[in-house]
Amino acid sequence: MTVRPMHTVAAFDAERVRRDFPILAQQVNGHPLVYLDNAATTQKPECVIEAIANYYRRDNANVHRGVHTLSDRATHSFEQARHALAGFLGSPRPEQVIWTSGTTAAINLVAYSWGHSTLKPGDRVLVSWLEHHSNIVPWQLVAAATGAEVVPIPVTDDGEIDLEALAGLLDARVKMVAVNHVSNALGTVNPVAEIVRLAKSVDALVLLDGAQSVAHWPVDVTSLGCDFFVMSGHKLFGPTGTGVLWGREHLLEAMPPFLGGGEMIDRVGFPTTTFSGLPFKFEAGTPNIAGAIGLAAAVDYLGGIDRRAAAEHEAALLARTLELAAEVDGLRRIGRPAHAAGIFSFLLEGTHPSDVGMLLDQQGIAVRTGHHCAQPLMDRLGIPGTVRASYSIYNTQEDVTRLFEGIRKAKRLFA
Ligand code: PLP
Repeated sequence: MTVRPMHTVAAFDAERVRRDFPILAQQVNGHPLVYLDNAATTQKPECVIEAIANYYRRDNANVHRGVHTLSDRATHSFEQARHALAGFLGSPRPEQVIWTSGTTAAINLVAYSWGHSTLKPGDRVLVSWLEHHSNIVPWQLVAAATGAEVVPIPVTDDGEIDLEALAGLLDARVKMVAVNHVSNALGTVNPVAEIVRLAKSVDALVLLDGAQSVAHWPVDVTSLGCDFFVMSGHKLFGPTGTGVLWGREHLLEAMPPFLGGGEMIDRVGFPTTTFSGLPFKFEAGTPNIAGAIGLAAAVDYLGGIDRRAAAEHEAALLARTLELAAEVDGLRRIGRPAHAAGIFSFLLEGTHPSDVGMLLDQQGIAVRTGHHCAQPLMDRLGIPGTVRASYSIYNTQEDVTRLFEGIRKAKRLFA
């Protein structure tokens, strides 16, 4: 007798989700749009667009210091948005959520503030060969200024962090291990628990770049065990120019301000100025109020989605992709991580990635081509770039079918 599992994941209705995203209901180059560039940026549901428009229609004012009603409303919505992001990330306190313009800005904030105040000549920051440039260059800049060294953690030919090599690099010189949760170029899901365990064995801090993970499954910064977590709102169905730095409270408290100006001060005078506490110490200038409100609307939208079923749905899209890929002669998947998010990078023998990308675009299929801001990884793999299809909650099996019709056409024309 076969015993059926008691708990099966409810079928995920991607078609229904798709209808929440107005941009997807259009023709591109005479074909229904198939949007497979979600790792670059996700589309926005109607509720996010509405939240931003409504803020500007009804509540627009500067936050925090105003005594008038509109400013009060704007401040309330802005701080409510911080609470929403704190809840979304599992932050013990909302003050640990610092608004930034995105992942890049958040990493730069940590590299400059923590790095300049902490790193000494001979100290080391480890980053992996899998990293996006934004988790490499800020560390190189701070290393050049402090005499510290940025050391790359080797990756395997399959595109996974080599944990043995990481263990071999760890010693008292290592002060920070900065890695992504999910590789934007290959989809590799990194073993965060193991990386954190290894880093902690030498008392190094861990910065986790969550730009590519937050849209795919729920994250909880407390159980991840990292010291800093960074993300971008625009990859999470929210607006561009938004993002979050989350940090452990005692670390953020100890870090000096990064940018100086309004909002981040307690009292300005000559010769000295004192600063606000968290989170405002790191939020100089008028913030992206509408953006924060829009991002909170995106998080609220995700609250209404069965995220486990959504993750299963994306896994099914990737599984079908890999089946179809195996049937195309001359198609080489780049990276074969054992655990991958819905990202598929490939090369088609005899073709250039950008030619494939342009031919797909002519058929209404949006993919990304090139080095994906991961030039060291491309060097490591000995390739100039890839074609990358990246899935989200609104993609369907029909999208996968269309992608492979396009790939076969590219093969017929170019290969
Ligand atoms: N880190 C990863 C893994 C990314 O995929 C990206 C963007 O693609 C970034 C960082 C940079 O994000 P942003 O440009 O939103 O700052």
